[in-house]
Amino acid sequence: MAVTRDTVLDWMRRFAGEMEEHRAELTRLDTAIGDGDHGTNMDRGMRKALERLDSADQAEDAGAVLKTVAMALVSSVGGAAGPLYGTLFLQMGGALAGKEEVDLAGYAGAWRKALEGVQTRGKAEPGDKTMVDALAPAVEAIERASDLDGALRDAVEAAERGMQGTIPMVARKGRASYLGERSKDHQDPGATSTYYLYKSAAEALSG
Ligand code: ADP
Ligand code: MG
Repeated sequence: MAVTRDTVLDWMRRFAGEMEEHRAELTRLDTAIGDGDHGTNMDRGMRKALERLDSADQAEDAGAVLKTVAMALVSSVGGAAGPLYGTLFLQMGGALAGKEEVDLAGYAGAWRKALEGVQTRGKAEPGDKTMVDALAPAVEAIERASDLDGALRDAVEAAERGMQGTIPMVARKGRASYLGERSKDHQDPGATSTYYLYKSAAEALSG
């Protein structure tokens, strides 16, 4: 098993499907501690991404696929999450550019770049109640794994625990931070969409 252009395309289709299916859930979470647009933001962005992928050159590699998704998100999502997910996919795409088959080490390296990009852009650390709380432990799980199958399985579990771990946190970044202590006892919307990002990656790789 390896990560290829086709598995990345399948991943992006599945992620778009998750954003459509869970739009209401993500919006409900963002209504509690933000402005209630995370579900519509992500659904709109990924719909735009699929439109562009459908009209893109079929010879493109995995890196180009991710770059197309990044550009679609940045240009169609106004909220914080658009540019942050845009950076994630752009960095990952850069790391995968020109590679036909990506092994575990290459995949782990690409996820590390993605995490660094998100943190450079958003300045969030684990514990700040953001998407980084799901992303960082999942990337670490991939780095620890000994095969791709196990890497994705462990990453999904780590992202899910990270997502749930945001519930008691006080937000220190993004709109939710305006609420201070009142942001407690709510699950972070961006950490939740990041959990779906890993769920869809695992499903795409296992076929
Ligand atoms: P907005 O907050 O602009 O309305 P969204 O609602 O689409 O954008 O996204 C909100 C999510 O973005 C939050 O739940 C959080 O996970 C993530 N987020 C916000 N600011 C940051 C940041 N500085 N670093 C990382 N993630 C962030
Ligand atoms: Mg919002």
